[in-house]
Amino acid sequence: MKPHAPLGLQQTAAPPDALGRVLGDLRISVIDRCNFRCPYCMPEEAYPADHAFLRARDRLDFDEIERIARVFVSLGVKKLRLTGGEPLLRRDLPGLVAELAAIEGVEDLALTTNGALLPKLAQPLRDAGLQRITLSMDSVDPAIFRRMSGGRGEVADVEAAIAAAERAGFGPLKINCVVMRGVNDDGVLDLVTRFRGTGHVLRFIEYMDVGTVNGWRGDRVVPGVELVRRIDARWPLQALPRSATSTSRRWRFRDGAGEVGFINSVTEPFCGGCTRARLSADGKLYTCLFAHAGHDLRALLRAGESDEALRATVAGIWSHRGDRYSERRAELRAAGVLEHVEMYRIGG
Ligand code: SAM
Ligand code: SF4
Ligand code: SF4
Repeated sequence: MKPHAPLGLQQTAAPPDALGRVLGDLRISVIDRCNFRCPYCMPEEAYPADHAFLRARDRLDFDEIERIARVFVSLGVKKLRLTGGEPLLRRDLPGLVAELAAIEGVEDLALTTNGALLPKLAQPLRDAGLQRITLSMDSVDPAIFRRMSGGRGEVADVEAAIAAAERAGFGPLKINCVVMRGVNDDGVLDLVTRFRGTGHVLRFIEYMDVGTVNGWRGDRVVPGVELVRRIDARWPLQALPRSATSTSRRWRFRDGAGEVGFINSVTEPFCGGCTRARLSADGKLYTCLFAHAGHDLRALLRAGESDEALRATVAGIWSHRGDRYSERRAELRAAGVLEHVEMYRIGG
């Protein structure tokens, strides 16, 4: 597909937000449905089979997503990530990837997925221009993995997804593991064993109080620093330098077997470097993972707003952004500020 010409759209970066952070990334949720029911995200009790998810007409179509992405790129976004719910449930996802890959100025186009449907889609996604894949894998133990996926997923399927991604020519994968104390934290060293020396980068994510229904409790969070100590005792680690906007604290194995990352969003918040905007499948723009409301871009698109008007709206929203929930978590929770958008709607 030929690159889209900028169509006269101005190409000037959005003004920094109220805390001086520049707009750098857009995460695009393409669907709110999921084939898993991970207890930390979409617990089965809260999302039974008859749950009312978005109807197809409520979701942005591919041209609408492409248009919004192009507006963000004109404002300085260089990285796009597709997410969900489970993004691979969205029909013809490679078609969307091809549209996004053709936008001039996109330097990084990535996908986060649970992998269950990846074996069939890895090659078409690669051919369409997808650059990187992050897979979620919370355990190598089949029984614990099943529990962490709400009884829907199998470790063997994630292994098949990894093999398919490798065959399709994707470079090193990122493998995300959410750690919950008393549920899967015993399996951390087994996960490290699985990925050491493979080139893939395992990242442990602290269990977060996203949404309103995951029953979050602080005592279920395993601080990243505790995991570093446990891993270092078995395979000595050395800290790697951290970039100002990176969410992950990276450590290398001193024996040369690669690296491991820690996303310590609860115990070591990184709001100061947060350059991300998030778009829900129904076209709402969220400026924080913990926002309680989004800005309705779909309404503007469907009312016939021009690209320039959309640009001005998005730039205005970004310039007023003052979010830093994770840095204020204790204070806000104590004050009863618990209304957050659900994670499956904006995809983490
Ligand atoms: N369904 C896809 C997947 O699971 O990879 C993409 C969407 S999922 C919401 C994106 C990421 O958010 C996953 O890696 C998941 O583990 C993470 N996540 C979901 N709920 C979380 C929570 N409560 N705390 C920390 N990470 C969470
Ligand atoms: Fe689905 Fe991903 Fe949420 Fe698990 S973390 S329920 S796979 S959206
Ligand atoms: Fe960004 Fe909000 Fe997370 Fe802070 S809490 S890092 S502002 S998404």
